[in-house]
Amino acid sequence: MKIMYHSTRNTDLKATASEAILAGIAPDGGLYVPEQIPKLKLSFEALAKMDYAHVAYEVMKLFYTDFTEEELMACIKGAYNTEKFDTEDITTLVEADGAYYLELFHGRTIAFKDMALSILPYLMTTAAKKCGAKEEIVILTATSGDTGKAALAGFADVPGTSIVVFYPKHGVSRVQEKQMVTQRGKNVNVIGIEGNFDDAQSAVKAMFTDEKLAERMKAKGYRFSSANSINIGRLIPQVAYYVYAYTRLCPKEINFVVPTGNFGNILAAYYACKMGIPVHKLICASNRNKVLTDFFETGVYDKNREFYLTSSPSMDILISSNLERLIYEIAEDKTAKFMKDLKEKGKYEITSAMKKKLDLFVGGYAEDKEMEEAISSLYNKEGYIIDTHTAVAAAVYNKYRESTGDTTCTVIASTASPYKFTRAVLNSIDPAYDKKDDFELFDELNKLSGVPIPQAIKDIVSAPVLHNTVCAKDGLEKEVERIYKL
Ligand SMILES: *Cc1c(COP(=O)(O)O)cnc(C)c1O
Repeated sequence: MKIMYHSTRNTDLKATASEAILAGIAPDGGLYVPEQIPKLKLSFEALAKMDYAHVAYEVMKLFYTDFTEEELMACIKGAYNTEKFDTEDITTLVEADGAYYLELFHGRTIAFKDMALSILPYLMTTAAKKCGAKEEIVILTATSGDTGKAALAGFADVPGTSIVVFYPKHGVSRVQEKQMVTQRGKNVNVIGIEGNFDDAQSAVKAMFTDEKLAERMKAKGYRFSSANSINIGRLIPQVAYYVYAYTRLCPKEINFVVPTGNFGNILAAYYACKMGIPVHKLICASNRNKVLTDFFETGVYDKNREFYLTSSPSMDILISSNLERLIYEIAEDKTAKFMKDLKEKGKYEITSAMKKKLDLFVGGYAEDKEMEEAISSLYNKEGYIIDTHTAVAAAVYNKYRESTGDTTCTVIASTASPYKFTRAVLNSIDPAYDKKDDFELFDELNKLSGVPIPQAIKDIVSAPVLHNTVCAKDGLEKEVERIYKL
């Protein structure tokens, strides 16, 4: 069956999978969604026998129906191998304290973003060929810290592409920033902005839908695309690891707990459920920026509130872009109106009938204190160390389990290596660590966890800073004009 995509805001704006991947976002500013979410073809027993690459193929072929088997397999083999991941399993399940941690951080930049961004450049260049696109693809990316590096690593020196990453200058961890500003490659640009992730994402989305800018780019031989999770080339590969995780365990039902920012990762879990994975609850975990917790509780999405910098910076987001795709599932042709309200008033409210359709979801949040407590108690109980984002999920899950008594088999998405947030992680275990410098802390974490220091950390210790441009939060377009000489 062939699957077409259309905008969440206008079902007449259609695209094939290749066109949607290449464009990144629909021309009206909506997000591309599949006209229907396909059901898994194979039995769980059959999938349980397959390795990661083959499970990924079984999932992705149902969405990317205009790719040939050969094309898709080439993309998958190029991405999911032991050159790009430090384990043959690609992702591993670790049982601790009554839950399973799905470690999604075994890729080159030690965050879960590698799961999709290692394959996106292959999908994108294949899609460009299929669409006969001649222009160089310019990947514009807004990052809350981890997408930036994973996208840079994926697209560095890929022929026919170049990339510009905008990150909040004062809103990412030291390791995250160092990883980005040391990136090598002839086609890479990294720019700090004097603003937060929402500022960066809004400015980038505005550039994608600016027709005049697109024309000026085209005249110079360029076209924009996106490496953010608004691109279905990011979203669909993420569905695969939920199917993979479920089929390693095959319980009657499963809960997924996902530390959430832009709502991409948990939306992928929702798509896996729609494909046939028997999900009991999807638990959406937020930090102090708990706009989603409030939304699931009240049906009101309201971004008019204070923005906090927390120890889980990749979740410091008030406009969760991918929620639009979930809204589309429950609101269909009302989606455009809600998104207009969000843009103009900063809020919208769904009806109670729509809210009923969100029964699968449970929202919860954890303050930094609770997150720290989750790290130290898990370490003390099991000797297992998790990162700050995963710890937000663990804290939310612990509260959920206590208040509901739900004993369903539960998988927590472990989204980053603790090495990426070493200082905050170790301080949670013992505040005395704060006196040590960053490099000593890597050794301390190694001693405490027994986990070898990842290559990604070794790489930044000695790497020179290659990028130091900073721009104002309304200056992103100027930077693009400067780089591409418009
Ligand atoms: C990006 C990120 C998240 C949030 O994922 P979304 O798909 O944006 O919801 C959580 N944890 C880490 C470590 C991340 O990098």
